[in-house]
Amino acid sequence: MENIEKQLTSVIRDIPDFPQPGIVFKDITPLLQHPELVQAAVERFVERLEGIDFDVIAGIESRGFLFGFLLAQRLNKPFIPIRKQGKLPFHCVSESYKLEYGQATIEMHEDAFPAGTKVLIHDDLLATGGTVVAASKLIEQLGAEVAAYCFVISLDFLQSAGRLTRFSEKIISLVHYE
Ligand code: AMP
Repeated sequence: MENIEKQLTSVIRDIPDFPQPGIVFKDITPLLQHPELVQAAVERFVERLEGIDFDVIAGIESRGFLFGFLLAQRLNKPFIPIRKQGKLPFHCVSESYKLEYGQATIEMHEDAFPAGTKVLIHDDLLATGGTVVAASKLIEQLGAEVAAYCFVISLDFLQSAGRLTRFSEKIISLVHYE
């Protein structure tokens, strides 16, 4: 499929002032109504990840489960869910991080993978980077390493990619807003 990035951009919907005034929410639900485009996006991730060595994919609740799980199935890799506090049933490692107002905690099962595992972190969108930095610290808590990051959307105007390079310089985004 030609110009997949352009097609993705055309179906991602801007919702102004959601969930709070001043935020333009990038809504990917219209994309999910186009299975051929979803498949093309997964294939683009596969192409862009060529040459990057990783063992598992960790996806971040909840929109990071959508493409993260599809990609894991496509590449025959294990999928690890990273969830908000209190949602996972087994013993967890936790990381708290600051939001614009207040704080959030994310968790992962402590037996998700062995030390030394190379982890690809996936979320739908990179904004300030706070969420994936916390996810990266969870992975370090288990003695594993971040092999790369991949996002459907990156809000480049927030200039947060620099926060991730301490963990991995490999950052893939299909759609960029500059
Ligand atoms: P951050 O930690 O600031 O990088 O925020 C990333 C997380 O918040 C992701 O899980 C996104 O789904 C969500 N998010 C942040 N900003 C937006 C936005 N403008 N549109 C859609 N989702 C967003």
